[in-house]
Amino acid sequence: MADDAYDTRKTHFTSDIGPELDGEVVVLAGWVESIRKLGGIKFIILRDKEGRSQITVPKSNPKIFDEVDNLGKEYVIWLRGTVRKIEKAPQGAEIIPDEIKIVNTAISPLPLDPSGKVDANLDTQLDNRVLDLRRPEKTAIFVIRHETVNAIREFLISKRFIEINTPKIIAASSEGGADLFPISYYEKEAFLSQSAQLYKEQMSSVFEKVFEIAPCFRAEVSRTVRHLSELYAVDVEAAFNNYEDVMKLLEALICHVFKHIKEKCSEELKSLNHKLSIPKTPFPRYTYTDIIKNLQKEEVKINWGEDITTQAYRKLGESLKGTYFIFDWPTAGKPFYILPHKDNPQICESFDLMYGWLELASGGTRIYKKDMLTERLKEQKLNPESFTFHLKTFDWGMPPHAGWGLGLDRLVMSLTGSENIRECVLYPRDRDRLTP
Ligand code: ATP
Ligand code: MG
Repeated sequence: MADDAYDTRKTHFTSDIGPELDGEVVVLAGWVESIRKLGGIKFIILRDKEGRSQITVPKSNPKIFDEVDNLGKEYVIWLRGTVRKIEKAPQGAEIIPDEIKIVNTAISPLPLDPSGKVDANLDTQLDNRVLDLRRPEKTAIFVIRHETVNAIREFLISKRFIEINTPKIIAASSEGGADLFPISYYEKEAFLSQSAQLYKEQMSSVFEKVFEIAPCFRAEVSRTVRHLSELYAVDVEAAFNNYEDVMKLLEALICHVFKHIKEKCSEELKSLNHKLSIPKTPFPRYTYTDIIKNLQKEEVKINWGEDITTQAYRKLGESLKGTYFIFDWPTAGKPFYILPHKDNPQICESFDLMYGWLELASGGTRIYKKDMLTERLKEQKLNPESFTFHLKTFDWGMPPHAGWGLGLDRLVMSLTGSENIRECVLYPRDRDRLTP
């Protein structure tokens, strides 16, 4: 086996190999997924980012035939060979190599079997994430995540939104929550941003329609299957819009994403064994008050004004399967910047987008008058002084605006049928996990 591993360029990916290349010389490189011996033939299954190819080594090439014995699982190899059309092979073609180089080796046994034949629990999978991700049903989740972001950008840009980036190191809480991570910032204390909220609102007074896809940091105390300490949010803010408008926008975006994934990722959905149905518009809409009444009928202990508990959401998810909105929430339970209803200030122009039991997004019409915003801060026991940097922009011509924040990781959960949000993040961060 040649030991010059410096030139490892390739001519093709495995997905390019097919019967139409019959007789052509190709160069492939990737990982050894498996090695099988069948009488006088040895088979290597070579994996790369696009899939798998069968490498067939007959005894008639004794040098390479013997060299195959030096290979191990997950070794990185480079090979040159001739494509041969053959119906029995999975791609309708195989490759007969005339040279194989070992580019790098891997230990044996590996801490996790990437073929997935041996079951491992989620912690072991995450501890050995690189190996874990080599399984097709794991790779699939991240191809779908990639396509989701792609589809979101494409959609929002087509609606004349402009993509922005707001700071993730901040001086004070954007919403006054206790879930901030403090960091040491030179001689001062600073925080990691829990949301782009205030900055995107400010930017609506410049660019009118803005969006951001970025991480948010939240010190979530509880351990659940839908909370992370580092999450990705898709944030949207649109001037001269109200919550009706941005609910419609969100609905259209969700349908666009579901369609895009169904079209582009059929292989990935198949390997996940997940059937995706495209939601119908308009999504069902229930007021918060109706949801509470229904929960009370189901004998869930909950009073008007209280937050809906995980248990109550699970109950809802039993009858409400797909996407739906819960709107007109009690003002007291929503952040200070949400606009109370004109006729009934007890409730506010707010909504959550749900997918079964899972909250995907929250949004609403924002307060755009400085006086009212200052009042609301006080009512929520927040100090307007620490919001001076924000409040002053309301003196400079702030338009009415509305928007939402959509959890990207949770959206990917619904698109892939994952039960745990950690499966949809390369390296999840939660209360217990800070490595790898
Ligand atoms: P929840 O009630 O589920 O904790 P939230 O109402 O506190 O969520 P929002 O502030 O409304 O969250 O954030 C907007 C969206 O971001 C949520 O609808 C959700 O999809 C996502 N999100 C919020 N917190 C987390 C988290 N800790 N991990 C993952 N996604 C999150
Ligand atoms: Mg919310």
